[in-house]
Amino acid sequence: MLPRPAVILDRDGVINRDSELFIRSVDEFVPLPGSLEAIAQLKQAGWAVVVCTNQSGVGRGLYTKATLDEIHAHLRALLAEHGTSVDGIYACPHRPDAGCSCRKPKPGMLLRAATELDLDLGASYMLGDAPRDLEAGRAAGAQPVLVLTGKGEQTLANGDFPDVPVFDSLQAFTDSLLA
Ligand SMILES: [Mg+2]
Ligand SMILES: [Zn+2]
Repeated sequence: MLPRPAVILDRDGVINRDSELFIRSVDEFVPLPGSLEAIAQLKQAGWAVVVCTNQSGVGRGLYTKATLDEIHAHLRALLAEHGTSVDGIYACPHRPDAGCSCRKPKPGMLLRAATELDLDLGASYMLGDAPRDLEAGRAAGAQPVLVLTGKGEQTLANGDFPDVPVFDSLQAFTDSLLA
């Protein structure tokens, strides 16, 4: 089979409401309007959809790996209610000072997803609200896309990514991609 094009998604601030205090429990995981529907539409159209999320709250001791797994099981259940699923969920649990190769802006999670899921990164998009998402996408050879949910307005105002396409939300990007 040929490698598949993917839409790779940051989690917090793209799929669900972001929090400066981290998302520490299932209760704090609140999907943004239209995000689950957008994932369903992308999957329906034949795109692979993959989540790549920095979750240093695990390494910081703010919540356990078991809780993170619970949150992702909850996300999968919500997606199932929408008749859809994602191809993979990758999370970096390490602290920023751990020097791991998976924490964005490093491309480790994207490269691992590409190998495990047979993705064509050169034909893929990396959607994020923070600079490190866009840098990771670029480093992996995917097209970075900035969404204005979460920290997106702030990232846009910083002006560091003049060449990166900007959309109001995951839903707006999806509408444009599938139009
Ligand atoms: Mg984010
Ligand atoms: Zn890591």
